[in-house]
Amino acid sequence: MKNTEAIWDFIDAKREGFLALSDRVWGMPEIAYTEFKSVAEHTAMLREQGFAVTETYSGIPTAVMGEAGEGGPVIAILGEYDALPGLSQEAGIAEHRPLPGNGHGHGCGHNMLGSAALLAATALKDYLAATGKPGRVRYYGCPAEEGGAAKAFMVRSGAFADVDIAITWHPAAITRVDEALSLANTRMDFTFHGRASHAAAAPHLGRSALDAVELMNVGVNYLREHVPADSRIHYALIDAGGVAPNVVQAMATVRYAVRSRDVAGMRALNERVKKVAQGAAMMTETSVDIRVLSAVSNLLGNTPLEEAMFRNLERLGPVPFDAADRDYATQIQATLSAEDIAASYSRAGVAPRDGNPLCDFVVPLNVKGEPMIGSTDVGDVSWVVPTVQARVATHAIGTPGHTWQITAQGKSGCAHKGLIYAAKAMAGTAVDALLDPTLIENAKADLTARTARNPYICPIPADVQPPIAPRPAV
Ligand SMILES: [Zn+2]
Repeated sequence: MKNTEAIWDFIDAKREGFLALSDRVWGMPEIAYTEFKSVAEHTAMLREQGFAVTETYSGIPTAVMGEAGEGGPVIAILGEYDALPGLSQEAGIAEHRPLPGNGHGHGCGHNMLGSAALLAATALKDYLAATGKPGRVRYYGCPAEEGGAAKAFMVRSGAFADVDIAITWHPAAITRVDEALSLANTRMDFTFHGRASHAAAAPHLGRSALDAVELMNVGVNYLREHVPADSRIHYALIDAGGVAPNVVQAMATVRYAVRSRDVAGMRALNERVKKVAQGAAMMTETSVDIRVLSAVSNLLGNTPLEEAMFRNLERLGPVPFDAADRDYATQIQATLSAEDIAASYSRAGVAPRDGNPLCDFVVPLNVKGEPMIGSTDVGDVSWVVPTVQARVATHAIGTPGHTWQITAQGKSGCAHKGLIYAAKAMAGTAVDALLDPTLIENAKADLTARTARNPYICPIPADVQPPIAPRPAV
């Protein structure tokens, strides 16, 4: 019998308040760096639970940090609460029906992510107080995970300098210790400047910035064949230069995301993409300004922490879904394709199972799935602090990320059960680290070994600041 059961009792004792917090944040979806209401909810909960609170953490108005405990190691639990544009959706139904409002929605489940992390931190605080053990727990309320790289900016400002280990989770279809695979990612705007003119009467006097954007995109599409296979490059037209075809567009902007297996590969690929932009400018006799918006590092794993977290998942068993959860998940699965469902299993590296739309197992440690090829700003934390993440089932198997179906399931019974389970997995892992100092030592040695050849270099240029939004007047 391990001592983690005691910590789970602390979680169960406060579950209702944190389920309500998750549901409230679901109902106020706010996107990167505008999470003023959501961070206020988290700040109020930290205060209610007796944490020492630092608002506007790392200079970011929608970041917050709460600390409790004395002496001992510093254990960070990372939470998020940002939503996504365009994923507004009524909860609890299995058809696409956006809600009135700004169109934002919790299509990545960060309402659950933040609430479970704060619940785990609260249970640890209560555990430390009850046992008198030395140790400090910190809840990091991190905004703007979606494209805003807030944690990378927070790492750069030293927010994690004295942290011993960091623990987090992400809502998922299948329960497992996260396989640390994500891509380093840079977001850049390329703004071309040309010269306007009458497109019929004086085209020879114009120099088209929109032509430059199109030529750059063509060039990058040829570049694709000659980059490492796990690189990803995508673009969006931010400003096509106007709607009048009879005016040569004097200015146009294209936004790029450049992703690679690691930071070194990303830096090299960034330079190649920049060369294509310069070539497009030369061809069109325009000029180009290149502005980096944000960047994140790839994730580093941590074997000792992954093993410790897996032991907690084993003790917890599968998330205890019930018949009503399975019924709703079956309705959601009816909106998905067979490929969606197969992809959930292959990403987790397990054979498809029939008969249950919800994950009723825990994936064994070291099962290799198909590489997850997104990016996350947890990556930067993992380079400076030993970091581990759980992925916990909160939605129907096959539900793709960033979809209305994720938003729809965000307040469901599945979501609530997964949230509580995730809090237990994180808090249990933290208690193991508090009770066994060799776990933290081994985790640190693992990180040192992984970074010995390639020390951490912040991927964000020194002059780039987070795009924080002004606090709205009340
Ligand atoms: Zn997410």
